[in-house]
Amino acid sequence: MKSFIPLRVYYEEVVEEYEQGKELLERYKKMDIPLIPINAHHKIEELRCRPNKEFTKMKKYLILGTRKTVNLTPNDKSADFIVPFTSSGCTASCLYCYLVCNFNTNSYLRIFMNRDEMLGKVKKMIKKSGEHKVYELGCNSDMVLENTITGNLKWAIEQFGKLENATVTFATKFDAVDDLLTADHNGHTQMRISVNPQEIIRKVEFGTSRLKDRIAAANKMFEAGYRIGLNIAPIILEEGWEEMYENMFREVKELLLPELKEQLFVEVIFMTYGLPNFYINTECMPNAVNLLDKEKMKPKGPGKYTYRNEIRNPAEDVIRGFIGKYLPEASISYIV
Ligand code: SF4
Repeated sequence: MKSFIPLRVYYEEVVEEYEQGKELLERYKKMDIPLIPINAHHKIEELRCRPNKEFTKMKKYLILGTRKTVNLTPNDKSADFIVPFTSSGCTASCLYCYLVCNFNTNSYLRIFMNRDEMLGKVKKMIKKSGEHKVYELGCNSDMVLENTITGNLKWAIEQFGKLENATVTFATKFDAVDDLLTADHNGHTQMRISVNPQEIIRKVEFGTSRLKDRIAAANKMFEAGYRIGLNIAPIILEEGWEEMYENMFREVKELLLPELKEQLFVEVIFMTYGLPNFYINTECMPNAVNLLDKEKMKPKGPGKYTYRNEIRNPAEDVIRGFIGKYLPEASISYIV
């Protein structure tokens, strides 16, 4: 994976009050990258009014700020609580990216400096609950990607390693895990590697790591003592999907370490596609595949589409069949 060098950096001035903020600004100043002060990371007027066709160009910008709201959100899927953590947004451009429904064209990577405050919220929750809980980091970003810039994921893993009654979890589409292999995780961290057929990665998940590299990263993390899950997401029912997914399962079976498969848990998520994705992709990436097919899809809340039951349910049976055939040792955590 190539390291991310931003075209320009926008920063809230408060960032200079944090060690990490000073270090990042110094780093980019030495590289002659333009540093532009802003009042607030969520109100950058000159970026708000840019046209859709500048979406991928804006993905090359980096925004530094502080997170203003750090309340934990209860969850019933991959974790007990979602922790708003040190980043939101991403440098990649997956055509279906759910962040676009929240941030529209401003889905660029934002990094927040107040990590101690966020961890403090988790510690309070641990004290209050008194029971073992799972905390998800980076539901609005990809922490492995962010870690290549800040080292925040390694830091968080080591902090969680010292906490009782807490497991930390994160999902990723990136293979840059080498920095995490030496982290003192104390068995308190699980990684879910997100997979899709290589054809879909190539045509839809622009800027993310290849399937083979993601699997290699999962193996390395397992050998470093982490618990590993497979996040098959999102399932995209494009023409030829059955063959593509069967090939993917075959490859996953062949390449994952046998001991890893013994402990594997699997999450399956069918694609939700937003109208903001459709409009932005059509203008910014006109040659990319169109994922909105109203014959196969039905509305799912305002401005979002998902597969109709008569398409989705048989597909779920097929995916369950592949899991049973190729990964019989795995347990299925959920399918949505
Ligand atoms: S890697 Fe995740 S956060 Fe980044 S563009 Fe793709 S779906 Fe969005």
